[in-house]
Amino acid sequence: MRSIFMRYPNGKAKAVTFSYDDGVPQDKRLAELFDKYGMKGTFNFNCEYVRKENFSKEQIKQYFLSKGHEIAVHGANHRANGNLRPIEGIRDVLDCRLELEAKCDCIIRGMAYPDSGIIQMGNFGNYEQIKNYLIELDIAYSRTLGGDNNSFMLP
Ligand SMILES: [Zn+2]
Repeated sequence: MRSIFMRYPNGKAKAVTFSYDDGVPQDKRLAELFDKYGMKGTFNFNCEYVRKENFSKEQIKQYFLSKGHEIAVHGANHRANGNLRPIEGIRDVLDCRLELEAKCDCIIRGMAYPDSGIIQMGNFGNYEQIKNYLIELDIAYSRTLGGDNNSFMLP
């Protein structure tokens, strides 16, 4: 029987990713360091900070998108999905995605769970429901705060 090995581009077996949350002003310097060393990062923008104009539309393009970095959802109001009823979680994700897409002029499908994410489930929060609504909202992945971030497995 033939074995199939999943690989990253150029046959690489391992990869490292950089994922930073909230869209704080220091992200500009971090993106510049990534650029200097030929690396890419994902910047998960908290829309509360986007509304504070931490980065203008032009700056998002200049510092991040034009350099190949990814912008991802991190909640319209930075609320932990594990503590939200589905309708609240759906709204927080969708509102953030729409705000970011308007600001970035591109499709946004990545996400990092805001706040404590799915570590704690309260308020009738349920991971299967969260996973289902993220799929329906066309979110391709969501980074957690859990130990699975230490894995080198393909997502
Ligand atoms: Zn955050």
